[in-house]
Order: sequence, then C-alpha cells, then structure tokens
Amino acid sequence: MAAEFHKVFNMEGFDKDQSPKWQMVPVNGTRYIALRNGAGLTVRSEPANVLTISEIPRSQLPTTGRHLMPLQATDRIFKLVGTGKGHALVKAIAANGAVAAQLQVDTKHRKTVSVTFNFVNDSAGHHTRRSPTAAVSWVRDMNWIYNGQANIFIHLRTTRSLAVPTDLGEEVTWSAGVNSEWNQLTALRDPAADMNYFLVWEYQQDADDTDAGTLTGNCIFEDNAGHAIGVTMAHEMGHHLGADDHYDAARRIHLMHGITDARGEHLPMEDVNVMNP
Ligand SMILES: [Zn+2]
Repeated sequence: MAAEFHKVFNMEGFDKDQSPKWQMVPVNGTRYIALRNGAGLTVRSEPANVLTISEIPRSQLPTTGRHLMPLQATDRIFKLVGTGKGHALVKAIAANGAVAAQLQVDTKHRKTVSVTFNFVNDSAGHHTRRSPTAAVSWVRDMNWIYNGQANIFIHLRTTRSLAVPTDLGEEVTWSAGVNSEWNQLTALRDPAADMNYFLVWEYQQDADDTDAGTLTGNCIFEDNAGHAIGVTMAHEMGHHLGADDHYDAARRIHLMHGITDARGEHLPMEDVNVMNP
C-alpha cells in the first residue's frame, strides 16, 4: 500500500483532489494530518521558515468541534504549526531517499471581513420578511465554513433597518444605469463594513430571477433565496472574496457551486487561495 496523507478533522482546509494533496495552515495556528501506510518514513517540511511539523500520539489530538475522520490504527499523526507566510512541501521519505508521499501546504494570515445587514423597506411599503434576530446565526454559519478552511473570520458589525425613499417595486432589479435600483440601494451602504447585505423581498438580475447578486462589497439578497440561508450568504461572501461560480456536478460539495441548496460547504485549494491569498 502506498503511503498517503489524509485529513484528521473535516472542514479544516484539506483538499484531497490536488496532486500533491493540499492543506491550509494558519500562520500562528495548528492543523493535524494523518500519514497512512507510512511506517518508517521520515517526514519533513521544506522550506524551513513556513511551518514546523512534529509527530504526536493520537491521545494528544484536541477536541476541535470538528468531525474526527475515521483513522486506521497504524496511521501516524502529525501536528503542523504555521510559523511564516508561504508555501511548503511536506515529504515522507524512505530510508533509500525516495519520496513516498507529499503534501502541499499554504499558510494563511488571519483575515477578518466585517459585515452589516440592512433590512430594507421602501416608500410603497415593500419590505423584507427577514428579521435582524437571525443575523447572529447567519454569521455563525459563515464562520463555520470560513474559519477552519480559509482562516477567514466574519465579524458582525451591525444590523439595521434601511428605509429607501423611493418605490423599488415588486422586484429590486439590477441594471447598468446610473439611477438603477441597485445603485439607489447600495448608495445607502454602511461604509464602515467590508461587506453589506441588503435583505429585500425579491431580486432580479439580467431578467433572471436570481436569489442574490454580489458586487464591490454589496450583496442584494432576496427573501426567497432557498433554505440554507447561512450557506447561501457564505456563497455570496465567496463572490465578494473573488471566487466564481462553477456548475460541475462532481464538485457539488463545494461552496462555490452555483445552485442554491444543492451546494455543499467545502472550499478547495483554488478557492481558498483566491479568498485569502
Ligand atoms: Zn454564485
């Protein structure tokens, strides 16, 4: 059996689909990795100034709140600590010098994104059905996705009621015009927040009835945007952080899959490296 690196905890920034496989490690933070079929191999990381790696007994694995993956009795457990920003290659090397398994690592500084939720009403009485009391749970759901996988932390700046002095109609629409409803609404953003969510009753973009649209730190998010609201908000946050949709059914477990409520919560290497470069 070939030696292979495996994740120890779920949702902590491991990407098995890369070659070599990939792990995100926070600068000044810790991740754990398992080496399967690796008896007798020497494990080291290059270059020396990105992370330290040390083998630990399984009893020293912490309780992280994350799902512990099924491990095999002979799996060797390693603790990775980010010591500097950069890219590293972890190698498991046989006595004859052959590299039996590799793992690529990117270390990431902690990145904070502040958000304000605007609960919109207009001059004609249209208003969102959503309530500010839900904001804490949306942010919790976003942090569940982003903290472990990308070392990105969402900070709830504030929630507020936002009265728009015009009639936005049955649908808030995006268009390129200077006086578009998108522009009217986003002009009222909280300038102190990195990202503003505008909760509206109905949103339309390019004649499509989309759930939400995100551009330049603003997201218009409608009342009918599916069921997994925190996940959909995290998906829109992904656009704010520079990642694009994909519609690859084989990667439906990814957060950036384009179909609301069909998507998962995983962030692959390519998304993490865009969101938190
Ligand atoms: Zn999208």
